[in-house]
Amino acid sequence: MNKNSSNIMALAPNTSKKRETVCIFGTGDFGRALGHKLIQSGYPVVFGSRSTQTSSLIPKDAEVLSHAEAAQKAAIIIIAIQRQHYNFLTPLAEILHGKVLVDISNNLKINQYPESNAEYLAQLVPGAKVVKAFNTVSAWALQSGTLDASRQVFVCGDDMEAKQMVMDTVRALGLTPLDQGSLLAAQEIENYPLQLFPMWKFPMLLSLGLIAFFFFYCLIRDVIYPYVYENKDYSFFIAISITNRICPILALILLALVYLPGVFAAIIQLYRGTKYRRFPDWLDKWMLCRKQLGLVALAFASLHVLYTLVIPIRSFVRWRISSQIVSQALNNKTEPLDTTNAWLSDSYLALGILGFFLFVLLGITSLPSVSNNVNWREFRFVQSKLGYLTLVLCTAHTMVYGGKWFLSPSSYRWYLPSAYMLSLIIPCTVLVVKFVLIFPCLDKPLTRIRQGWERNPQYSE
Ligand code: NAP
Repeated sequence: MNKNSSNIMALAPNTSKKRETVCIFGTGDFGRALGHKLIQSGYPVVFGSRSTQTSSLIPKDAEVLSHAEAAQKAAIIIIAIQRQHYNFLTPLAEILHGKVLVDISNNLKINQYPESNAEYLAQLVPGAKVVKAFNTVSAWALQSGTLDASRQVFVCGDDMEAKQMVMDTVRALGLTPLDQGSLLAAQEIENYPLQLFPMWKFPMLLSLGLIAFFFFYCLIRDVIYPYVYENKDYSFFIAISITNRICPILALILLALVYLPGVFAAIIQLYRGTKYRRFPDWLDKWMLCRKQLGLVALAFASLHVLYTLVIPIRSFVRWRISSQIVSQALNNKTEPLDTTNAWLSDSYLALGILGFFLFVLLGITSLPSVSNNVNWREFRFVQSKLGYLTLVLCTAHTMVYGGKWFLSPSSYRWYLPSAYMLSLIIPCTVLVVKFVLIFPCLDKPLTRIRQGWERNPQYSE
């Protein structure tokens, strides 16, 4: 749809209560986009600009005046100007006295200035009521109708009435205001659009590190070793075999790492005999990104499923099966069915299927739209009880995969155990410690501690 000024008209022109004029300082990208949106929602808009000449980019129905003239026409003034130019507002302090100034600005770096832009604005124009809003919405999102962008607008400010006026305007634009409290929250709101997946950094870096380690580990065992000792070229294993070894290993380790911090936390609380002392920073941060760790683990588990599905059509696998058949035919001898192997293989597959099913269930319940619809107890049941069950199933799946060769000395190459054996270390540790922690002699005091009991109360009555 053409968003030119000529096409912009009020979508709600006949609202029973006439909308108050809104003033926008600055005719840049954001000022114009917001102006279009306000006019569409039935607000008269007046721009305050250094140049009063209108251009075709400015909405047709909007007036363009000097800053002083425009400010006099509205109770709400949106400052769509970069922070470094705010000085021009000082001479206008008298005109802006008692007005609601909406700071929408962002910075280039997190915590770029000692105070937030909104607090700086409040210092420059002390008589105005400053409200922070709109900085998390992009000009593009406003222009594209916010259909495919976040509709949430974080709002904060010290004056309740001013904040309410801004929140009403936000609502009238079809957006969702989220009250974040006083102007002290402005710094956090300004940092918000500058963050780049903060909770995903640790899971991603950890995954990359583990991928690199296990890739070289498998390369040494599965490609270099046969080349050196048997002069066989298995380099094609890199494409599917090694990848399909790394994916389940990462899925299992990352899933175990979702539950490991909880185990650490329980041990620390038991040791300290209180829950009223902060955990170390590293543990706090680790606990906060458990959901992301779990989702990355689920992604690797899904890749493992896909890679496993293509195994029967691999040329190497088809060659191995046909050569076995040919060798049986040449020897005129059919190998009998090994029931133990059949059991192991079926159990391994069944455990994998059940584990993956629960894994997906955990992933689904972590989605906000689902978790918002379950109560705390239900959420805890799924994430903790079913989560541990998933870990048990996936660990058992890996152990049974080893089958008869699990821990057998012949499976070591250059004294290196199979990669899947390494992947079992963390999950087994988590499960064993968790098993110990559910013994009543530990579980009871832990439950009491979590309910507020202290072994040595800090503040006695
Ligand atoms: P922009 O396109 O560069 O426009 C800024 C406007 O400020 C200019 O068009 C100009 O308007 C005015 N201006 C420039 N220098 C000035 C000076 N020395 N004194 C007075 N006014 C001056 O910037 P923008 O993208 O619209 O961003 C404006 C504000 O919105 C910024 O604080 C930005 O952080 C924030 N923001 C932008 C977006 C976005 O998607 N663009 C999203 C969220 C928040 P006149 O020529 O009319 O005076």
